[in-house]
Amino acid sequence: MGDYIDKVLNTVREKNFDEPEFLQAVDEVLTTIRPAVESHPEYKKLAILERITEPERIITFRVTWVDDSGKVQVNRGFRVQFNGLIGPYKGGLRFDKSVNQSIMKFLGFEQIFKNALTGLPIGGAKGGSDFDPKGKSDMEIMRFCQSFMTELQRHIGPDVDVPAGDIGVGAREIGYLYGQYRRIRDRYDGGVITGKGIEYGGSLARTEATGYGLIYFMREMLKVNGNQTFEGKTVTISGSGNVAIYACEKAQMLGAKVVAMSDSNGCIYDKNGIDLMCIKQIKEVKRGRIKDYLNTYPDAEYIEKDSEDSPIWNIKTDIALPCATQNEVTLNSARKLVENGVIAIGEGANMPCVKEATEYFLEKGVLVAPAKAANAGGVATSAIEMSQNSMRYYLSFEHVDRMLDAIMVNIFKSTKDACDSYGLGTNYVAGSNIAAFTKLAKAMSAQGIM
Ligand code: NDP
Repeated sequence: MGDYIDKVLNTVREKNFDEPEFLQAVDEVLTTIRPAVESHPEYKKLAILERITEPERIITFRVTWVDDSGKVQVNRGFRVQFNGLIGPYKGGLRFDKSVNQSIMKFLGFEQIFKNALTGLPIGGAKGGSDFDPKGKSDMEIMRFCQSFMTELQRHIGPDVDVPAGDIGVGAREIGYLYGQYRRIRDRYDGGVITGKGIEYGGSLARTEATGYGLIYFMREMLKVNGNQTFEGKTVTISGSGNVAIYACEKAQMLGAKVVAMSDSNGCIYDKNGIDLMCIKQIKEVKRGRIKDYLNTYPDAEYIEKDSEDSPIWNIKTDIALPCATQNEVTLNSARKLVENGVIAIGEGANMPCVKEATEYFLEKGVLVAPAKAANAGGVATSAIEMSQNSMRYYLSFEHVDRMLDAIMVNIFKSTKDACDSYGLGTNYVAGSNIAAFTKLAKAMSAQGIM
């Protein structure tokens, strides 16, 4: 059966040789689900692995818009509808200059596993554009979003495919995207996109959900490993966007001391503990740089990023939460974190650790909360937003937060159960992949060859 996995991996490598991020994501899943595949010989006959690694559909399109100086700009748009087995395609939109088909496919592939873990009926997708929102005016962002949605609207719908935010797509962009969808379709289809403003069908606690969910998952992981808690622990968090900010908020609520955060230019270190209100003001209101923190706290330190190893991982910490982007924790950074005594890693971002870094952490006995499981709170709460839209009803913040907490407890439980069933110890990376894969393989087997 090992042959089967190796054969599929080779074929995937041959077919997608120019897509490194996608290959990395597939490699991680296929090499960790081996025990589950070996105990089900029928999967080979049904070509489950060949099918699960091939997206159902990839849509690429031109996005043309006019900038403030009157110049015509052209970007490339994507939507990868990876797998609709267990519900409407669901996954965020990323606007970032690095976006390409490989990144879209890696994120779409990860999303099918993540969404399966939530226990909710949602399939996996991802989309976005190589549009760079940095430095653009509000009106430029609006014109871009309107042009992007003019094409995307043909391919989505509340029971078809439901996008949401991701890097570079927050509340402002979701508003413009939804507005254009509504203008073209001329009907109320609130559940067509999630992360909406509360005034027009958004869910309370959606903004907080990914970060809070990450901390809920880690709380469970720390509890079963020596009855540990966040109380009094030092935490460093990369990024200062949606996931990072609300991971910081919940970690602080549970008694942790967050001493560092970052953006793509560098990181700040505040030995007295980060003032999150100040970060929110800089990032959510002024859309400024993390360095601006020093304007309020001149005694804090700013360290510029000058190599592929982010300086934030050189800071001594008990818990590290990579919440910025893929492959931001290199093997060098992993070594530094371990040398400084880190006990747990919580992946808020998607695939933030290179493969060698994850392997190194596991080898050294560092607990790793894997992205597909640990950051699934965002999409789970998006599914709760869809339910509220269908019910034409709003749930309270406390209600949604309790549901999110229960979902994260459950995701940790199914991850741990898979580890226990297959004798994987605390390798939660393998455990979460197996838990998700088992569910998807069952659904694929049930629905016939397609
Ligand atoms: P945001 O755009 O809100 O924030 C992203 C943050 O990461 C910013 O601080 C940004 O800094 C930083 N960043 C981006 N690219 C790089 C880079 N190449 N190197 C260093 N820092 C970088 O995005 P989100 O918080 O929404 O997303 C962060 C991660 O979490 C992504 O991997 C995303 O896929 C994942 N995720 C998000 C979910 C959500 O609900 N939003 C759900 C599940 C996963 P700068 O401003 O300088 O670019």
